[in-house]
Amino acid sequence: MDLIIQILQELIPAFLVATGGVTIVSGGFTINSINKSLIIREKNKHKYLKLYKRTGEVKETQESEIPQIIRLIFKGNNKQDYLNFINMVKGPEELKDIIETFTTNVDEKNLRFCARNLQTVKINKKNIMKDLKDYLSNLKKPIAPIGLYHPTSNTIDLFIPSKQVLSHEFIHMCSSNGEDCGFLVRNFGYGLDEGYTELLNKRIFKYKTYSYYKNVNITKLLETFFDNPKDFEKAFFNNDLDAVLIQFCKYGTKKEFFDLLEKLDNFAMGKIPINDFIEYQKLKFKLYDIIKRSNDENKIKNFENILFQSSLSKILHNGYTLTSPHITSKRLK
Ligand SMILES: [Zn+2]
Repeated sequence: MDLIIQILQELIPAFLVATGGVTIVSGGFTINSINKSLIIREKNKHKYLKLYKRTGEVKETQESEIPQIIRLIFKGNNKQDYLNFINMVKGPEELKDIIETFTTNVDEKNLRFCARNLQTVKINKKNIMKDLKDYLSNLKKPIAPIGLYHPTSNTIDLFIPSKQVLSHEFIHMCSSNGEDCGFLVRNFGYGLDEGYTELLNKRIFKYKTYSYYKNVNITKLLETFFDNPKDFEKAFFNNDLDAVLIQFCKYGTKKEFFDLLEKLDNFAMGKIPINDFIEYQKLKFKLYDIIKRSNDENKIKNFENILFQSSLSKILHNGYTLTSPHITSKRLK
């Protein structure tokens, strides 16, 4: 991506925010939204600190000793022929093409929740003017949704008629055990989940643009930590955040993992433009330091190939450093 575009994407005070797949007018980028973002960040900090303290030592060889973050409430039958089942169930008409592309690009063993949820999923087409306004007035987050998936009721709310938004929400549905969604497990891993969901959305349906771009790009780097990217995909479709923690901690520390989750949550839940831009760049290089500890030439090479696609990363690598501005500076008061 072009350097100027990358910087502009971050720094222009956006009247457009991305959530479910494309962009939407959200009522402007106001001081109020920055205040909301600051409050959310404080909460995220406490949330992950608590989880960090609760989680035991991460040892590769003693996986069973790790307190489970995960509770799988739906255990599938491995003998189930998911693909045939999906063809039989069919699902809502507007998902027809999406199901076909999705099922040809995802391993059958990862179609368990897709098969289960397709039987009852409902798509609610919302009126963007009316419903979004009502929704926004009750919204705690500073970001407006254009699509939403509710795991407990197995419903998709669609605020604009966009295939990209629908397929993004559909992937949430396919990774939902009825309580958790992909890597969003018991309220942890929200930002990682959005990053990986949109990464899959972009890959499977070959969209040129994508939302949650910081989350997507960090998730892409994190994928290189796995010996096989399919293991990352399998973890996603089984709500197995532990698998990511274990793989990460082969090279990184538990603290670094929870810091990563916290930052990804922050990026996905509300923007503080310049601060986020700097945090995002620093996080990429933090992950670079961690993957280098693997001494695995292939993994480091794969990581570098993704990292240095960005000309800004190349410049930063060659000696420029970034420092965070104080987020309660005069400008924001
Ligand atoms: Zn989403």
